[in-house]
Amino acid sequence: MMPDHAPTLPICRHCDGFPTVHITAGTRHPDGTHVTLRAVCPACQGTGHTRPAAPAHAVVRVGR
Ligand SMILES: [Zn+2]
Repeated sequence: MMPDHAPTLPICRHCDGFPTVHITAGTRHPDGTHVTLRAVCPACQGTGHTRPAAPAHAVVRVGR
């Protein structure tokens, strides 16, 4: 159930809204199914959305 009042977060531009990617490892489980690895988008931590407000630590000032 998706609440109607849920805020619409911008789609993560890093993964284009597909934060989890299944990669076929090329090997198989003993039962014959493919072994798949799940890679989660590091930019959105698998949420598929970017946060509306950037965390303070994202802004890094480099002094001279
Ligand atoms: Zn992402």
